[in-house]
Amino acid sequence: MAAAHHEPLAEPAQEILRRLGVPPAAYANGELRTISPIDGGQIGRVRIDGPADAARKIEAAHAAFQVWRSVPAPRRGELVRLFGEELRAAKADLGRLVSIEVGKIPSEGLGEVQEMIDICDFAVGLSRQLYGLTIATERPGHRMMETWHPLGVVGVISAFNFPVAVWSWNAALALVCGNTVVWKPSEKASLTALATQAILARAVTRFGSDAPEGLAEVIVGDRAVGEVLVDHPQVPLVSATGSTRMGRDVGPRLARRFARAILELGGNNGAIVCPSADQDMTVRAVAFAAMGTAGQRCTTLRRLFVHESVYNQFVPRLKAAFGSVAVGDPLATTALVGPLIDAGAYEAMQQALAAARLAGGSVAGGERVDLGRPDAYYVRPALVEMPEQAGPVLEETFAPILYVMPYTDFEDAVRKHNAVAAGLSSSVFTRDLGEAERFLASEGSDCGIANVNIGTSGAEIGGAFGGEKETGGGRESGSDAWKAYMRRATNTINYSRALPLAQGVSFDID
Ligand code: NAD
Repeated sequence: MAAAHHEPLAEPAQEILRRLGVPPAAYANGELRTISPIDGGQIGRVRIDGPADAARKIEAAHAAFQVWRSVPAPRRGELVRLFGEELRAAKADLGRLVSIEVGKIPSEGLGEVQEMIDICDFAVGLSRQLYGLTIATERPGHRMMETWHPLGVVGVISAFNFPVAVWSWNAALALVCGNTVVWKPSEKASLTALATQAILARAVTRFGSDAPEGLAEVIVGDRAVGEVLVDHPQVPLVSATGSTRMGRDVGPRLARRFARAILELGGNNGAIVCPSADQDMTVRAVAFAAMGTAGQRCTTLRRLFVHESVYNQFVPRLKAAFGSVAVGDPLATTALVGPLIDAGAYEAMQQALAAARLAGGSVAGGERVDLGRPDAYYVRPALVEMPEQAGPVLEETFAPILYVMPYTDFEDAVRKHNAVAAGLSSSVFTRDLGEAERFLASEGSDCGIANVNIGTSGAEIGGAFGGEKETGGGRESGSDAWKAYMRRATNTINYSRALPLAQGVSFDID
């Protein structure tokens, strides 16, 4: 019980914030209590931005855009390069703060910062590769081309479970593309946002005076302040990561004012284990994908279809892995599964398990692990054998629950795999080339991410990230995701003295 009373993580969290140069006024006496899920204790009191503060910051970012868009892109890349350097220097501190604020195990907290560094490297290279096409024109003496221009203020709304990496995927690209950024972090993870902002400020100071004030702003608060960002006419693009419920509200609001949206919403990710799958590797891949980050990744594996011929060998092995994985304080032990974010997450998990039992499911695990901390919610990951895909299996519950179902026919398994509302990530485990290719083909997985012999989670930044259907359709991070952060102009240049019209139209005036 002691852990909950003396709030032992407030001091280490605030020490990191001090070291990174965050002013205490931002996190010491504000209205928003920040809680560590590790012990349920308060680690900060963050000052909230009201609607007027939010509007002022958006306007500052808009003013900064007028300057930043004219700075040459490779020079903008230099700022992101310096930010990557500052992140390398601050990696241990920021990674630990991620662990304290959202409960990730140390390697995952550090991994999140590594992802920020990786996207900075990617964006630096990109700053010299914002290519447009030159297109053959039907008119003699003409040239046609595409030019990509900066867009404006990019709003970023982020979720608690990747409190800093998701912002960096957006911000690193947005900044090299010539945009400015206003970030509304999760109300459950404001401290890591303030820390990230301080790290960026160091890079801006080193960069020099051509970085305008207001280049990157943070607005702290809950959905009310997020709505200010969504509705603001000076924000032409909002990249919003979170639940499908959030996207259902944000998407239409943006559409109403013809703003762009990148929606990165919930997932209900599935995998198929085929008869030829390498079982040793598959057990490990499934265990990480289903239990890593305590089931609180958008790409967490939640549904598993196992061929009936291997079901009785494979599922008991998986169950043993679920039963033996260490659950505990991620900073004080070598546990692989840390806490759920809060009581609400715990209750949602218990409700889903109750519904699964009602639907004929057989539940192993799922119970609360008592660490003597009444305000922290540790659970054993649950493996639920279901007779069919029904009830809670059809929805994302943001907790470590893996629903396992047998299948007979591969095509039927793919059909069931696709028969949910979300469409983020998916995997097939097989040594059969035909099955692997069918899963990746147009009639295979309908997700934004489809993998072979690797789990659903743990994407790297080089590929575009995002999903289909109720996952929202957005893409961010690698590949050509940068195009969403720029506006495209098609330019036709007549270098002749004639004026031929397209499509043979004639319009001769005397
Ligand atoms: P959430 O939807 O509760 O909150 C996400 C963010 O949206 C927060 O900053 C919140 O303040 C803000 N918000 C909520 N409603 C809003 C509104 N109407 N207008 C403006 N802002 C609003 O999600 P969460 O609990 O923090 O995160 C978990 C969810 O996020 C899961 O569903 C998970 O799958 C999803 N997620 C998706 C991705 C992805 O890339 N697809 C990545 C991470 C998390």
